[in-house]
Amino acid sequence: MADDNDTLRRFLFEKEEIRGSIVRLDSVWQELRTAEDYPAEVVALLGESLAATTLLGRNLKFHGRMTLQVQGGAHVRLLVLQCDNQLRVRGLAHFGDDLPHTFTELVDGGALCITVESGKDHDRYQSIVPLSEIDLAACLELYYRQSVQLPTVFLLAADEERAAGLMLQALPERVSGGGGWQRLTSAIQGLDVMRMSRLGDETLLSAVFPEEDIRLFDADPVEFHCDCSMERIENMLRMLGPHELVDLVSEQNTVEVRCEFCNQAYEVGSERVFAMAAELSGSSGKQVH
Ligand SMILES: [Zn+2]
Repeated sequence: MADDNDTLRRFLFEKEEIRGSIVRLDSVWQELRTAEDYPAEVVALLGESLAATTLLGRNLKFHGRMTLQVQGGAHVRLLVLQCDNQLRVRGLAHFGDDLPHTFTELVDGGALCITVESGKDHDRYQSIVPLSEIDLAACLELYYRQSVQLPTVFLLAADEERAAGLMLQALPERVSGGGGWQRLTSAIQGLDVMRMSRLGDETLLSAVFPEEDIRLFDADPVEFHCDCSMERIENMLRMLGPHELVDLVSEQNTVEVRCEFCNQAYEVGSERVFAMAAELSGSSGKQVH
């Protein structure tokens, strides 16, 4: 159903104080992948991480951004997915050669970090999520159960065409216990979320939870968006320091920097680079060339 593509849809089990979300990303996922030619092993992990980050990003209440990051692994050296409160996403991965096939081997040696930036002051909360489980969904479930103490279930899947996910979460005000959580999570156990995501939301929910009273909210559109800019690129170049900046343009007239998230190319002319180097050196900025 074309209408449900690139959307996130929330729903609520009226009698259970359990909420859920379904996400399916098609052109957003294609756009995110164009910046780099990712091998199949990375495609699956990156797409599942994108689905998870979007599901979690929907919980941001005010201005803010959710970042899921795996870093320091031998195979997946860096994986970053970001979703802001308007459901605008971007992401990338750096990886080595000869990649293993299982999640556990792929992220071996790495650390998973979830960062929430919120409010006007960009308050940051960072959590480390152990990568001890068999897949990303299970790692996130363990983290939500033990550290956040909000029972949560994730189903995540991704292939070249689509990234899809389903999440069920007990609301904080819910009194623990009761058979509802058990009943609902049993209903989605072993569900092929990729196959189910081909159905429309209403059809999917009534197929999986035929007996339940479900309130389905309007679909929220998800977009690919990168907030890179010439200003940010110049700030990044400044961090190199004045000598490295001058070296960069000693043999060429422009420095070309490509944003790794969206592949946008930025060209900074030599005059501008010399001016930045001069500013950094604390001179007057009147550059003689
Ligand atoms: Zn960009």
